[in-house]
Amino acid sequence: MAYSGNVRSLETVKSEDLIRQCSDCGSKNIEYANEEFYCRKCGLVLD
Ligand SMILES: [Zn+2]
Repeated sequence: MAYSGNVRSLETVKSEDLIRQCSDCGSKNIEYANEEFYCRKCGLVLD
């Protein structure tokens, strides 16, 4: 991993971090309930 090349993409990652995405099905249809984020498409609970 080249850290120097990561600096620029870090800003992109930061803003995208607000948009949660299911690691299982890739859906961005994420719901927050019971202090947990879960995918509305497949039901996977995100960390
Ligand atoms: Zn999912």
